[in-house]
Amino acid sequence: MMQLFLPLNLLGFVYREMRGAMVNIERMFDLLDQRPAIMDKPMAKPLAVQAGTVEFRNVEFAYTAERSILQNISFTLQAGKKLAVVGSSGSGKSTLVRLLFRFYDVNAGAILIDGQDIREVTQHSLRGAIGIVPQDTVLFNASIKDNIRYGNTEASDAEIMEAVRLAHLQHFIQQLPLGLDTLVGERGLKLSGGEKQRIAIARAILKRPSILVFDEATSSLDSHSEQSIMQALREISVGITSLAIAHRLSTIADADLIVVMENGHLVEQGTHNELLSRKGRYAGLWQAQQENNRESAPQVETI
Ligand code: ADP
Ligand code: MG
Repeated sequence: MMQLFLPLNLLGFVYREMRGAMVNIERMFDLLDQRPAIMDKPMAKPLAVQAGTVEFRNVEFAYTAERSILQNISFTLQAGKKLAVVGSSGSGKSTLVRLLFRFYDVNAGAILIDGQDIREVTQHSLRGAIGIVPQDTVLFNASIKDNIRYGNTEASDAEIMEAVRLAHLQHFIQQLPLGLDTLVGERGLKLSGGEKQRIAIARAILKRPSILVFDEATSSLDSHSEQSIMQALREISVGITSLAIAHRLSTIADADLIVVMENGHLVEQGTHNELLSRKGRYAGLWQAQQENNRESAPQVETI
C-alpha cells in the first residue's frame, strides 16, 4: 500500500508545483527519483563562483554497495575551457555529470568548483551555476515559450527571444502559425530530437550559467540538426567553462581537454592531437569513426 501511496502523493505534489509560477525542474526530478536525500550542511554557504574551474580529485563512486562505478577519477577543467568526455556506453560519462550536479555524493575524493568542495555549498547555488542540456530533454504540455522560460522564470520576453536566436530556433519558430505560443508535448506539436535539444539549449542560455554541460543525444540527429546544434553550443560557450559528453568524436576535436572513460576508469586525457599520437584508446575510436564516415553510413553510435 505504501508503495502505491507514495508515488501518487509525489505526483500530486509535482502537479501543484507545476501549476505555480516558480517551477523548478531539478526539484521535480528530485521528487520523482527516490534517491537518498542530499542535504545541505547546516552552515552551508552559497557557492562563490569566480571563473568556474572544475576539479574532480580522486573521485570514487558507486550507486549501490555491490558495484563500484567510478574509480579514482581525476581531471581539472580550467575556467572558460572546453572539456569533452568520450567512452563507450555505460563507461560512467553521465555519472560524472550527475555527481557534478550533486544528485549523488561521491564515496571518496572530492569535486571542487573554484576550489570549493561542492558538499560544502548550498545545492541551490550549485545547481544555479550549472546549465545542463540533457541527453533526452523533457518538455511539458505548455507553449514553447513557457518550456524555454523554465530555465529562468523571471526572464523577459526580450531575453527569451535572444535565447531563441542563440539556440538557432528562430527559423523553426517562424514557421509555426502560433510561433512561440505553439503548444508542444503530448497534447501539442511533436518535436524532433534536434528541436527538443535546441529548446533545452535555449533554456540553458536563459539561466546564464557559469558552467555549461551538454550530454549529446545518443539517437542520431540528421547532420543538419547536429551541425546547427554544435554551432549554437560553440557560440554560447565562448568564455564559459563547458563540459560535453560526446558520441561523435568529430564534434569535439577542438576541445581543450578530452577525457576518455572506460568501464569507470579514466584511461586517457589530453588534446585531440596528443591523444592521436598516443595511438591508444582514443586514436582507435577516432580511426573507427573515420572509417564509418568514409562508408557514408548513417551516423551511428560506434563507441
Ligand atoms: P554512460 O553515460 O557512459 O553511458 P552512465 O554514467 O549512465 O554511463 O552509467 C555508468 C554505469 O552506471 C552503467 O553501468 C549503468 O548501468 C550504471 N548506472 C547508471 N545509473 C544507475 C543507477 N541509478 N543505479 C544503478 N546503476 C546505475
Ligand atoms: Mg550517458
